[in-house]
Amino acid sequence: MDLRKLDHLLLEHIAAKGKITVLTGAGISAESGIPTFRGPQGYWTVGSRVYQPQEMATKRMFQRNPRAVWQWYLYRLGVCAQAEPNPGHHALVQLADLFPDRFTLVTQNVDNLHLRAGQEANRTYEIHGNIFYVRCSKECNQTIRLMPSQISGNPKKEAVSEVQWQALHCSTCGHLLRPHVLWFDETYNERYYRLESTLKVATETTVLVIVGTSGATNLPNQVVSQVYRNGGAIIDINVAPNRFSRFAEDYHCGMAIERPSSTALPEIVQYLENRLL
Ligand code: NAD
Repeated sequence: MDLRKLDHLLLEHIAAKGKITVLTGAGISAESGIPTFRGPQGYWTVGSRVYQPQEMATKRMFQRNPRAVWQWYLYRLGVCAQAEPNPGHHALVQLADLFPDRFTLVTQNVDNLHLRAGQEANRTYEIHGNIFYVRCSKECNQTIRLMPSQISGNPKKEAVSEVQWQALHCSTCGHLLRPHVLWFDETYNERYYRLESTLKVATETTVLVIVGTSGATNLPNQVVSQVYRNGGAIIDINVAPNRFSRFAEDYHCGMAIERPSSTALPEIVQYLENRLL
């Protein structure tokens, strides 16, 4: 890691007193044992057909085969419930504590690991939702509720049981519940996914740290473009080159760090702590 460049970029832009925003994707949780969508474990089979997450995580699929979609989510719920936050998640809590009034975490992850690491909910924008919550699929009301207590995770091939299926119905109107997640064929909004809040934070951001995302979804791209227009610093941390790392490398206030987040983040935060305190 080029600490001299990092030092120059971070300290100068931190001094500008804008927001410090961190944008995370599936990569930060990979070392907690939660597979990324685009990695080799991303696929899922229903009967004899193999599906990609981009097909499973859709409203269309939920309308066609809700039981198969719920089976996939209950398996993923189990994976997330068994995972533990890793040093990358913990380092971001430490970073938030360094800048209590200026820090926002925008996460595409639905795994709850940032909150379980101790990140404060009011400055954590879960822009793709949270797999531990549900809503009525018919929106008889717009309440986001905790997953019914009868439901924990299921092993990979286990079908949704009758008890689980009954529990997955809305207690108000009786229709099926859905996972509180943004599907690939849906659009962002403020009520569920903090769209406007995220865009507002982006306009105020002078330091953006991007962690473990391939940059394939819409709102994260808008955040990065906005911070670039602000002239803010953009630091990308990822094990592999991606659209954000290439962008950061070409940008005079940018830097790409090709390292796993579980080691890069604690080092950066420790370095900052030593420089600032
Ligand atoms: P992605 O799967 O498209 O990309 C993951 C990125 O992480 C890749 O660029 C990869 O190189 C990088 N990466 C892998 N291991 C890393 C590590 N140890 N350190 C740093 N980087 C690492 O994921 P995405 O861009 O976040 O977006 C896809 C969608 O998938 C999101 O909508 C999200 O909701 C969903 N998703 C969430 C989870 C989760 O909650 N943990 C898991 C899988 C998918």
